[in-house]
Amino acid sequence: MDENCIFCKIIAGKIPTLKVYEDKDVMAFLDIAPANKGHTLIVPKKHSKDMLEDNNKDLAAVMKAAKKISAAVMKAVSAEGFNFIANTGPVAGQVVFHTHFHIIPRFENDGLKHWPKKDYSEDEMIAVKNKIIESI
Ligand code: AMP
Ligand code: ZN
Repeated sequence: MDENCIFCKIIAGKIPTLKVYEDKDVMAFLDIAPANKGHTLIVPKKHSKDMLEDNNKDLAAVMKAAKKISAAVMKAVSAEGFNFIANTGPVAGQVVFHTHFHIIPRFENDGLKHWPKKDYSEDEMIAVKNKIIESI
């Protein structure tokens, strides 16, 4: 547990939350500032700052539970779809540095917007593709 981490405090029961799921490795609870009703966060119990730092075993447990919880969230709020998001790094809007994934139920005309598209040249795309392959 990281003493300064708000999600570690939730997991330890030190601050209240609206918990929807818990097993030995994973917890899920409602987001305190929801983008839509049913907005849920799913987290590994063991502290890591983001999914790149999280160990594969915990990440796999989170993903397995996320499938079950996403279906339950959809059913509970009669959603037509959902976004599954990890804001990773401050530049991507991460503000809580304990690995977590957002399950955001979506409804027709709910007003949430996707990010705008940006073009870049085909040459640059190919160069980026090659760099990604080299980096794996
Ligand atoms: P981000 O790091 O950008 O992925 O966002 C962190 C999310 O955690 C935000 O959507 C917050 O509303 C949510 N959050 C922060 N504190 C709490 C809390 N105590 N209980 C539930 N959700 C929280
Ligand atoms: Zn933590």
